[in-house]
Amino acid sequence: MSITKYLFFLLQILSRYFIIAGVFFLLFYVIYKSKWSYKKIQKIFPLAKDYRREILNSLFAIGLFALIPTLFFKNPVLKPYTQLYDEIAERGWFYYFLAFPIMAFLHDTYFYWMHRLLHTKYLYKKMHLIHHLSTNPSPWAAYSFSFGEAVVEVGIFVIFIFLMPLHKTHLFFFFLFSFLYNVYGHLGWELYPKGFSKNWFGRWMNTSVNHNMHHKYVKGNYSLYFLFWDRWMNILREDYEAHYDEVKNRQAPISAENKS
Ligand SMILES: [Zn+2]
Ligand SMILES: [Zn+2]
Repeated sequence: MSITKYLFFLLQILSRYFIIAGVFFLLFYVIYKSKWSYKKIQKIFPLAKDYRREILNSLFAIGLFALIPTLFFKNPVLKPYTQLYDEIAERGWFYYFLAFPIMAFLHDTYFYWMHRLLHTKYLYKKMHLIHHLSTNPSPWAAYSFSFGEAVVEVGIFVIFIFLMPLHKTHLFFFFLFSFLYNVYGHLGWELYPKGFSKNWFGRWMNTSVNHNMHHKYVKGNYSLYFLFWDRWMNILREDYEAHYDEVKNRQAPISAENKS
């Protein structure tokens, strides 16, 4: 294991974290904070110490995440045991694009059941409480995990490379998308349109309102990208759709100059 290889992946994951979470934080929590605050899912804002805790925990998790690609990429001993392939042409473009939705469903299923396990009495305090210290999460909470949770979170990477043929760009683009969705889930604002939670497509997609309710109430709404498992297991909170509508139907307050 070379240190330069580790630093390369560390820098890659760190920049993904700080650029994406940072841009959303800057827009929603700094530049347009007062203009958009009426639409914030939980109207109050986290404290500076909450942001600090979320960033610090995320840094530890990132330190661990970077170890996994360092171990498996271009490692002559381990790579032959994986299904990683080098040239896209080996499997063709059809397979290349088909792999992404398969990865999303696999990750969603893995995450859902891991998350349900983390909520059992035995594991919750030991492994998942750190993430739930953010009862009103910000984009910085996206990787705010305990060491134990970070280990099981990165497990999907290992499952992917042993389970299905993947090119390195599959992993790059998929985890980029995954992180974007993760930041959206912890954003504190809902970006999907009005009525989305009830339409044929939106009924099956996880939303920021949904994950925010998971942080606020701890029970229910365990999903990642989709709502298949929450709906199939009948564990979606009953007030989810009403809360979604309440957030999306809020009207901008009439400003002082408009009143006079
Ligand atoms: Zn949870
Ligand atoms: Zn969360």
